[in-house]
Amino acid sequence: MQKSDIESETQKDYSVMPTKNFNPKSDPKLLCTCGHKECDRRSVDQESLDKLQLIRDDLNAPMVITSGGRCPYHPKEIKKTEIGDHQLCKAVDVRCDNVIMETKLKVLAGRHGATRVAGGAYCGFVHIAWTETDRKDVPTWNY
Ligand SMILES: [Zn+2]
Repeated sequence: MQKSDIESETQKDYSVMPTKNFNPKSDPKLLCTCGHKECDRRSVDQESLDKLQLIRDDLNAPMVITSGGRCPYHPKEIKKTEIGDHQLCKAVDVRCDNVIMETKLKVLAGRHGATRVAGGAYCGFVHIAWTETDRKDVPTWNY
């Protein structure tokens, strides 16, 4: 058995293929940035990254990712009582400092299947998540 086979059995593989505008190798915020020694540097998963690209295509303007995947040691995850969207690799925070951008991001998030959307210009980012849910309402919250 090769070393790589052993690693894949003992550690979940969080690697994803880059899309046209988003590359985890050159856009480190797509991965966990907590710096904990046990951090697995998990990325947003492929399905979410592909949806993010569809939003980017429709927006047709630059998007700055401020947070993506987060491991369980991330300071914002460690205090949560339930596993959050970022830890599930199903969420991105996109920088947003004006209401026009906020509206566009939220409309496009809905267009491309996001299940949980929050934040906005008031807090400097929009949270977009594709976490699986059977809910038919619109889960959201304030930061
Ligand atoms: Zn981490």
